[in-house]
Amino acid sequence: MQKSKKESFFNVRVLATDLDGTLIPLPDRPENVRALNELSTRLTERDRELIFCTGRHFESVIDALDEFGLPRPAWMICGVGSAMYVREGDGYARFAPYYAHLDELTGHVDREGIQALLADMEGLTLQCAAHQGEYKISYDCAAEAMEGLIAEIDRRLEQHGCRFRCMGSVDPFTGGGLVDLLPEGVTKAYALAWLSTHGDFDPEEVVYAGDSGNDLAALTHGFRAIVVGNATEALAGQVRDALTAKGMADRFYRAEGFATSGVLEGCGHFGLV
Ligand SMILES: [Mg+2]
Repeated sequence: MQKSKKESFFNVRVLATDLDGTLIPLPDRPENVRALNELSTRLTERDRELIFCTGRHFESVIDALDEFGLPRPAWMICGVGSAMYVREGDGYARFAPYYAHLDELTGHVDREGIQALLADMEGLTLQCAAHQGEYKISYDCAAEAMEGLIAEIDRRLEQHGCRFRCMGSVDPFTGGGLVDLLPEGVTKAYALAWLSTHGDFDPEEVVYAGDSGNDLAALTHGFRAIVVGNATEALAGQVRDALTAKGMADRFYRAEGFATSGVLEGCGHFGLV
């Protein structure tokens, strides 16, 4: 009762979207470029708000804006939720309230503290400055050594009560090991949910579009969800099941179109454009 009453007060007006594999046109899909132009025009015409939610770091998002001619978002959630920027005039500024929140969340341990804690570990090399953030600390290592290094990092974090978590992955291009440290519990979904209660919009107004595992939490959070056509059937099924279990089956949309075309299709479905 309460929910349907609340829903009637809000119209969807915010598109929150992943970039790679979702908003950014796929290289072999010329129809994605046409979809991007149409989507940009319609979002502007209807005065919709746009939010990027990406694993990319800030500079890489800025590069993507020009490279792919993306529409300018009002907000950028970068580094899988470890950084947040707000549009200011022609540029972007870090959104200070979010960093204050992360500072609180991590018990005031910042990257210098973490770096010092791990400084003597053999085989762990800090990545270049562009891949670092105030709350994202990224290292390279040999893929074979990664498991052992992560275990030792976790041990040290726990020993010192640091509320960061450590994740490893293998670079698909070089085959090297990548180790990222982020505040515990912080994901794209976490940042977006936080922003939807501290920014200038309501969670009820949000449509989220994504294509892969790091979108799962945001897709199942309770926002309206677009799973683009290039996402796996397994991901689409997980999102469908999770929203159905919450009594929100009508908030799930599985697009036929791939990437940008799927985003446009889903925005049409939810009445955003
Ligand atoms: Mg993606």
